[in-house]
Amino acid sequence: MSLKLTSITKIYGTQKAVNTISFSVEKGEIVGFLGPNGAGKSTTMKIIAGYIKPTEGEVLVDGIDVIKTPKEAQKRIGYLPEHNPLYLDMYVREYLKFQASIYKIDLTKIAEVIDKVGLINEAHKKINQLSKGYRQRVGLAAAILHDPEVLILDEPTTGLDPNQLVEIRELIKELGKNKTVLLSTHIMQEVEAVCDRVLLINKGEVIIDKPLKELKTSKEQIIKVTFDYKLEEQFIKRLPNILSFKNTTENNWILTFESEQDMRPVIFDFAQENGLKILGLNTENKNLESLFHELTKS
Ligand code: ADP
Ligand code: MG
Repeated sequence: MSLKLTSITKIYGTQKAVNTISFSVEKGEIVGFLGPNGAGKSTTMKIIAGYIKPTEGEVLVDGIDVIKTPKEAQKRIGYLPEHNPLYLDMYVREYLKFQASIYKIDLTKIAEVIDKVGLINEAHKKINQLSKGYRQRVGLAAAILHDPEVLILDEPTTGLDPNQLVEIRELIKELGKNKTVLLSTHIMQEVEAVCDRVLLINKGEVIIDKPLKELKTSKEQIIKVTFDYKLEEQFIKRLPNILSFKNTTENNWILTFESEQDMRPVIFDFAQENGLKILGLNTENKNLESLFHELTKS
């Protein structure tokens, strides 16, 4: 196991930004860390990278405790922060040398990394002369200089044009072949293009943790129901084949079933048997995009 989070919680003042998140990532996996703005992605990633401490919980990178021994763990982690902080006045090669010296990395490594991220023709330029896509490459280069096992990339493609987007995604895929990658994004297509697994979070909690393949081919049905009465969870749990449920507003529920059979008539019967009325009922088109919207809408 390359990366393992156990019950990570982060409270800022009175706000729970991350609420008992647990997951693990195996070596060679690229996991899409998906969620709307404010879901807690960056907070979780900063905790993994050892930049902030969680209120509770444990993070292990290659078995090493990030919270107790951050320096030791950071040797194994490459972190690209959300707003890739670069020294804009520095030349690309100079910046990477500077980074290499901080982390006591062999200077010969720099040429290798410059080549790997496709920066050969830009290495003599100042960072502020580079396009956003190339700046991201510099950020990635800095993150992989010390050849870390685990890469934590916080929205690496935000703000890129379509061509740059494709190039950076290819680069991440390439890096992911022999590293463990956790990649945050709020773009669904990105996950479909790059990732093996989806980890969807909302309001600091994991909602889905599944291989992409399973998510696409599952027999899951998502049905939105409005009853005329506010029901208890206990009651909803009695529905046959129910996998998960979410009470979005007072009388509205998003129900997920696993069944070959169309669950809508079953819900109707269930309502009738219990003296309830159904005010609305919709089946959601089961693609990643709609799943994301439904599960993360407040
Ligand atoms: P995401 O990266 O998914 O957009 P963040 O982890 O940045 O989400 O934020 C999660 C929540 O925590 C948000 O509501 C945000 O406003 C809050 N938050 C993040 N950083 C801080 C901080 N330093 N102080 C207080 N609240 C914060
Ligand atoms: Mg963020």
